[in-house]
Amino acid sequence: MHPHLVFWISALVRMFVVFLCASVAGFFWGVIPGLVLGMAGLVGLICIQLSYLLRLSDWLDHPSSSRLPDGWGSWTEIFTRLYKMRRGDEKNQAELAEWLARFRQAMSLLPDGVVIMDDVMFLEWCNPVAERHLGLSLAQDKGMRVTNLVRTPEFIDYIILGRYDIPLILSFRERKLIVHIIPFENRRQILVTHDVTEAQRIDMMRRDFIANASHELRTPLTVINGFLEIASMQPDLDVSIRSSHLKLMSEQGERMQRLVEDMLTLSRLESMEYAMRHERVNMRQMLGQILQEGEALSAGRHQMSLEYDGPDIMGSSDEIRSALINLVSNAIRYTPENGAIKLIWKNLPQGPKFVVEDNGIGISTEHISRLTERFYRVDKSRSRETKGTGLGLAIVKHVLLRHKASLVIDSTLDVGSRFGVQFPANIAIRS
Ligand code: ADP
Repeated sequence: MHPHLVFWISALVRMFVVFLCASVAGFFWGVIPGLVLGMAGLVGLICIQLSYLLRLSDWLDHPSSSRLPDGWGSWTEIFTRLYKMRRGDEKNQAELAEWLARFRQAMSLLPDGVVIMDDVMFLEWCNPVAERHLGLSLAQDKGMRVTNLVRTPEFIDYIILGRYDIPLILSFRERKLIVHIIPFENRRQILVTHDVTEAQRIDMMRRDFIANASHELRTPLTVINGFLEIASMQPDLDVSIRSSHLKLMSEQGERMQRLVEDMLTLSRLESMEYAMRHERVNMRQMLGQILQEGEALSAGRHQMSLEYDGPDIMGSSDEIRSALINLVSNAIRYTPENGAIKLIWKNLPQGPKFVVEDNGIGISTEHISRLTERFYRVDKSRSRETKGTGLGLAIVKHVLLRHKASLVIDSTLDVGSRFGVQFPANIAIRS
């Protein structure tokens, strides 16, 4: 039945009962007692309604679904409906609170910074990434103006200009950030920060690498093209001159080949998809071969020795071999005739260590931290004279990174150098 109908019927029934009682009293005791009884009945009904109204107003002051007043007649229906509404509200509120908590947790896990501000940029909420990116602290800065917290002219100009359709590239506390501001809900704005410091650094390195590699390849190509031009313009060139040109061209060709091979090695080592092999590396055999190859490269110009007192290790034989041979060939190339080159393989408490010691030209301190950069050379002409590509130590660095090993360089100008490779202890195989 429709609730309104129930309401009316119960009200009419109550009034009818009062009217009936009053009529019966009037019939037996006279009109006056009948009217008095009728009035008393109506006053009683009004008092009951008033008492329910008071209970209702009391409840509305502190609404709760667990403490609802009991009802009578149509009040039962009213209180039941209020109870349902209240339960619904409480459920909605609980759902909203849970949803808000989940939303904040999701925002906290985002790799980007998120700041929620009102229309005049007062901070309402931000996630931990935004705290890091913009140096904010939600606990302390809530309610403060973001332009007072991020005080850089670029940011302030961007806000004044209000061209939010174009993102801002902001340099802030040694970070490069892309900042977007998106207005929402009429009176709120969301600020998103995306850190591109690392991406920009890699991009810059890539551009430098391409520029350097093109430059390195251009020099031998220019030489070859020059000789080819002479050969085509002067077909009757003296045989001895022609053969000397051919020799120089073949040297430049070899130089380009070494460069391309080193660049390919580097790019293979850098690519994450190229999985590292884990095999037993027979160090005695490998170091014996490296010593022989070193002696061949030195062609008797240096005194070479090997001290072997370390274990076999787990890793990629090819990669370790290429790293160690690079270090040994550098020692030979940068040590004048009659110098001494010592290879040492030993086991330390922190793990196995390979050391190449030479008493060559040495390196002054300011260059040491940059030696593993691609194409970084202390002395360009000496590197080229000795067939260097400038990529040897970059290759070493990558191989060591893949084996969780580290390179330690000690060197003194005009005294000599010591390149140490410290492998982690867990790589050693106990025989
Ligand atoms: P390169 O092909 O030029 O030798 P590397 O990356 O192998 O390139 O080495 C980078 C630079 O480090 C070299 O150009 C050289 O100046 C310096 N270097 C490396 N090893 C030695 C060493 N044993 N003694 C002196 N200088 C060295």
